[in-house]
Amino acid sequence: MKPLQTRTPTNDRATERRAGGQVPGLRERVVEHVRRNHPDLCRHWFDQIDVVAMDGANLTLLMEEPVRLSYLRRCCVPPFTEAACEATGRLVGVQFVGERTAEVAAPTASNVQRGSTEALFDDRILLSPDYVFETFVVGPNNRLAHAAAQAVAQKPGRAYNPYFVHGGVGLGKTHLLQAICQDMLRRDPSVRITYISCSTFMDVFHEAVRAGRMQEFRHRFRTADMLVIDDIHFLSKHEQTQEEFFHTFNALYQSGKQVVLSSDAAPSEIPDLEERLVSRFNCGLVARIDRPPYETRVAILKAKAALHDLALPDDVPAYVAARVDSNIRELEGALTRLRGLSMATGAPISLDLAKQAVADGRPVDAAGSPVQPSIQQIIEAVTQYYDIKLSDLMSKRRHKSVALPRQVCMWLARKHTRFSLEEIGGYFGGRDHTTVMHAVRTVGERRQKDIALSSDVDRIELAIGRRDA
Ligand code: ADP
Ligand code: MG
Repeated sequence: MKPLQTRTPTNDRATERRAGGQVPGLRERVVEHVRRNHPDLCRHWFDQIDVVAMDGANLTLLMEEPVRLSYLRRCCVPPFTEAACEATGRLVGVQFVGERTAEVAAPTASNVQRGSTEALFDDRILLSPDYVFETFVVGPNNRLAHAAAQAVAQKPGRAYNPYFVHGGVGLGKTHLLQAICQDMLRRDPSVRITYISCSTFMDVFHEAVRAGRMQEFRHRFRTADMLVIDDIHFLSKHEQTQEEFFHTFNALYQSGKQVVLSSDAAPSEIPDLEERLVSRFNCGLVARIDRPPYETRVAILKAKAALHDLALPDDVPAYVAARVDSNIRELEGALTRLRGLSMATGAPISLDLAKQAVADGRPVDAAGSPVQPSIQQIIEAVTQYYDIKLSDLMSKRRHKSVALPRQVCMWLARKHTRFSLEEIGGYFGGRDHTTVMHAVRTVGERRQKDIALSSDVDRIELAIGRRDA
């Protein structure tokens, strides 16, 4: 972090208390600073953030759209704080609010059903503001899946029930599922949606069985207006959970509630899935997403660049799309590396830079070596550094001596590989994406304040070749 700039301090409390909109250019300066220093976190809609008040040492910023607000609170408090300090030349705390009059920060997601006060279900809906219909590029590979998803959001329970979307990794299944949720929430903020990954559903089920709280579990899952389960193929081989899910499904279906499912395979191709579930899944609409053709890949690259306010000369998306054709996560990875190279070298994004970021579809750096360490390398470096056993890292143990290294692993995997939160969770004993997100956030925040941790992390990055000595 750069040192704070010193400006002449103002002693006049009255001028400090005025509404932030009147502090000349504060909003612009803060957003510009975040844009420059944290382009990965930045979104084009940051321009719509408003200043509510600059009161003493507190800057209150407004974002009314709840999913965007939740994103800002989850991921953007440290960079905005840094930017506000820089822009004002003093220490400033930043908070994001959802309404102009809000005194204190409201809890994150509103459409939450709570079982009891104990956290059997921690089911705040964590939706990404990036995953909406507006940012979903339609092509021949996903046209049906997209059209049906829109119909489901418009007429839940009446268009296609269940809606089942399947396809390979990184092809947009989660994006579509979340787009349905967000579209419905916009139409009717009171709608009760349960959005959950299949692995979390299984964990919660086992926990409910163990704790003798099945009644609560059933109430929880059978009374939603819509149940959305991501990666339902994880039910494979889990007979007991399949049995329970079958009844959950029937209860919802019979009362006309919408069920939305995603999977890496078509219903009949999911190994060891009960026949009666296969036939239930097939009775609505089953849509497949394929790999995008060249034109769609170009369009996706342009859309992603626009979302991040990244200027791309025309030949760049054409070049990248011609060489990266496996899935969209790979395309995004190429864009991220391109931005990184541009920042590191101070050169604007160009075809030459794109050539460095992408070679034969395989990501390499300027010297031709792979850009990503493997998760395996990260795990090895962390276990070695902290001198702990691999089995401890993978275990459910929560003791500090293993919990922190585990979180550091997740943080490094998130930073240096292109695996999704879900996939990273999979590497660490099937933990779900919210656990990974929590780990990433915790380490990210602690690194800012805890010098020892920050230097531990630096040294591990050195060991995996991600940092120059
Ligand atoms: P999956 O769940 O199928 O593994 P995701 O939904 O997580 O894939 O998509 C991976 C990335 O690709 C996400 O960042 C998503 O926004 C992006 N993506 C996928 N399909 C599209 C599309 N058609 N338009 C824009 N972005 C897309
Ligand atoms: Mg997914």
